[in-house]
Amino acid sequence: MNAPLRVAVVGAGPAGIYASDILTKNDPDVTVDIFDRLPTPYGLIRYGVAPDHPRIKAIIVALHRVMENPRITFTGNVHIGVDIRVEDLREYYDAIIFSTGAERDRPLEIPGIDLQRSYGGADFVAFYDSHPDRPQTWDLTDATSVAVLGVGNVALDVARVLARTGDEMLYTDIPDHVHEILKNSVVTDVHMFARRGPAQAQFTPVELRELDHSPNVQVVVHPEGMEFDEGSAQALSQSKSLRMVVDVLSGWAVRDVDPNPAIRRIHIHFLENPVEVLGTPETGVTGLRTERQELTGNTGIKGTGEFTDWPVQAVYRCVGYKSEPIQDLPFDQGRHVLPNEAGRVLDTEGNHIPGIYATGWVKRGPVGLIGHTKSDASETVANLLADADGLVRAPQRDRAAARAFLLEKGLHITDFDGWDRLEDHERALGVAHAVDRERVKLHNREEMTKVASALQ
Ligand SMILES: Cc1cc2nc3c(=O)[nH]c(=O)nc-3n(C[C@H](O)[C@H](O)[C@H](O)COP(=O)(O)OP(=O)(O)OC[C@H]3O[C@@H](n4cnc5c(N)ncnc54)[C@H](O)[C@@H]3O)c2cc1C
Repeated sequence: MNAPLRVAVVGAGPAGIYASDILTKNDPDVTVDIFDRLPTPYGLIRYGVAPDHPRIKAIIVALHRVMENPRITFTGNVHIGVDIRVEDLREYYDAIIFSTGAERDRPLEIPGIDLQRSYGGADFVAFYDSHPDRPQTWDLTDATSVAVLGVGNVALDVARVLARTGDEMLYTDIPDHVHEILKNSVVTDVHMFARRGPAQAQFTPVELRELDHSPNVQVVVHPEGMEFDEGSAQALSQSKSLRMVVDVLSGWAVRDVDPNPAIRRIHIHFLENPVEVLGTPETGVTGLRTERQELTGNTGIKGTGEFTDWPVQAVYRCVGYKSEPIQDLPFDQGRHVLPNEAGRVLDTEGNHIPGIYATGWVKRGPVGLIGHTKSDASETVANLLADADGLVRAPQRDRAAARAFLLEKGLHITDFDGWDRLEDHERALGVAHAVDRERVKLHNREEMTKVASALQ
């Protein structure tokens, strides 16, 4: 009989944690060790979901329960492919599930995109969510009108955070330096641009409505983009959620702009395709050129040759996230995922690399909500368990040996008890704050590691 399975999960975002949960529920003997390159678990729930979405962040409570299972461990500050290699893990684990997510901006290849004040939305998100390895500061004092390219939920988050006042965000977990920067923002107008029409928008109704919940922000939909073709009508007849989105947008399209100078505005422009960021290396961004699009009847679009220059001084592109390659593993450079068939990672010939699996955004690309990573994990785990008898057992089978290896490498690893200590610390900072708050996030990796460290 084979020894009980030992599985490593690389990436402690929701996909990795759900996969660990499903594994332990379906195999009474398996043990799972989860690794993350950050000192903390929860991936984009902590570093992607907007601070003013506490309801979503509450999913962490359920994931915490999963991690309390003694058959599951968490080890932070281990960057697989950088600190240690995939082959090192194979010494201790019979199978490895990669759930490394996606956290960088996809490129947008239009002239001027590299000018100063042309930003990746993912960088701004990482800033306001206080990711320890990403920008720790942001200049919001140099642009009153800004463009947000894209009309998905991430674009909504970015537009909303840019438009809200710093004080409106103070009830969230943002640290003081982020609050200070949002508070001093001079942004008055946020223009969102979509290439396609309202019936092709990627928003979800709840997130869209939320855009208008602030008394300091007015949302204006520019009516000339509110066009529908036969394809749109068909899409609308098939989706209640889309009908809700279009109803909300239609309501906003007949509003007058509020003349109150204290109100910030979010403008939504459909059927305007960004074709060039205007400016020079000396001036940075001075505008955005878009080409008017028309619907072709089947939800497709084509350019009309009519161009508009919008006087904005900063551009945030929210055109999607992308995963990063992992050393020693194949990578699909076109789709930015680990090449896989239902979670089994494939080599360049299309054969399954024994013992290597993928789940979450690195498996199927950066689309879908946290809940989707659960069904995704079910498929990957089912295939892993189906392969289990044929998996070659790793030579070293002891958790303590794997831990000793990491310590020998000089890594300042953190564990799940350490996460609890960090949480307590952040909550205490919240209570001690001048405005009583649920928590205040730490953002410096050394400090986080120190607080989380068992030696503390
Ligand atoms: C801006 C933004 C807002 C969002 N808002 C919502 C929302 O409101 N509601 C909702 O349901 N969904 C939201 N989502 C979607 C949700 O975040 C994703 O569906 C989910 O996080 C994907 O999970 P994952 O585990 O695949 O990846 P991730 O959450 O990205 O987790 C991957 C983990 O792997 C780690 N990692 C990466 N590489 C390595 C490596 N080489 N070694 C070790 N560790 C590594 C990372 O540090 C990270 O912790 C949002 C996404 C974004 C980008």
